[in-house]
Amino acid sequence: MSTTEKIIGIMGAIPEEINGVIALLQHQEKTVIGQRTYYTGTINNQKVVVVYSRIGKVAAATTVSTLLLRFNIDELIFTGVAGAIHPDLRVGDIVVGTSLVQHDMNAFPLFPIHEIPLLGISAFLADEAAVKKAEAAIDHLLDQQHLHQLISKEELMAFGIEHPKRYSGLIASGDQFFHQHQQKVNLQHHLGDVLCVEMEGAAVAQVCYEFGVPFTVIRTISDEANESSTIDFQRFIQKVSSCYSIEVIQQLIPMKKAL
Ligand code: SAH
Repeated sequence: MSTTEKIIGIMGAIPEEINGVIALLQHQEKTVIGQRTYYTGTINNQKVVVVYSRIGKVAAATTVSTLLLRFNIDELIFTGVAGAIHPDLRVGDIVVGTSLVQHDMNAFPLFPIHEIPLLGISAFLADEAAVKKAEAAIDHLLDQQHLHQLISKEELMAFGIEHPKRYSGLIASGDQFFHQHQQKVNLQHHLGDVLCVEMEGAAVAQVCYEFGVPFTVIRTISDEANESSTIDFQRFIQKVSSCYSIEVIQQLIPMKKAL
């Protein structure tokens, strides 16, 4: 086997986000480091490492550092759920992050709000080619005929999902679960064009940026980031977003010839 073979890291924050992807692994092996379980193996003959980081920026940053330093990944794909911030977004839509900001980074007046101290950057840009690939995979998934083969119409309707759409743009991350309208208002005030909010993406983006490794963050909208979020979170992830993740990962990792 060639030692220069590319390795792709696949991350989620919670087990439900990646259990389906782990089930795709062939030649699966487990390694436990720092309270995380890293599953190595292949998907479509491509070497991958799959892990869930637990929730929040520190958990995500340490996990992606381990993926980079211990597993030598060449590329990172994050798949998970997020709360909607932009008023057009609905539960079941999927967002590809073209740029990611840590909304709770504020070292003002030493540095401008959101700028990472001593890095001089406030928004981490995703790799353009990786974004295009993710967009194509998501558009394929959300094609109505294809989608209904994966998830029944009834199941989608149970979550009020009719015509889910793909959006690409700014994702905000921070160590807060948004459950009050006022949190959204504040975020929109500081970051007008933000699509959705979650708790890991921009931390993963910072570490990947610092190591010069391309990253893709893909988030399914699971809630509206306010008090009125009435969906059954666990069921939504199991029945909808994990199906999305499995399908998108399979699309993003095309079958390679066996070595
Ligand atoms: N399964 C957990 C819920 C976790 S929700 C439970 O039932 O207790 C938090 C996770 O989903 C985080 O990893 C975050 O990235 C994402 N997320 C989803 N909606 C969010 C919101 N409204 N605000 C912040 N993060 C959100």
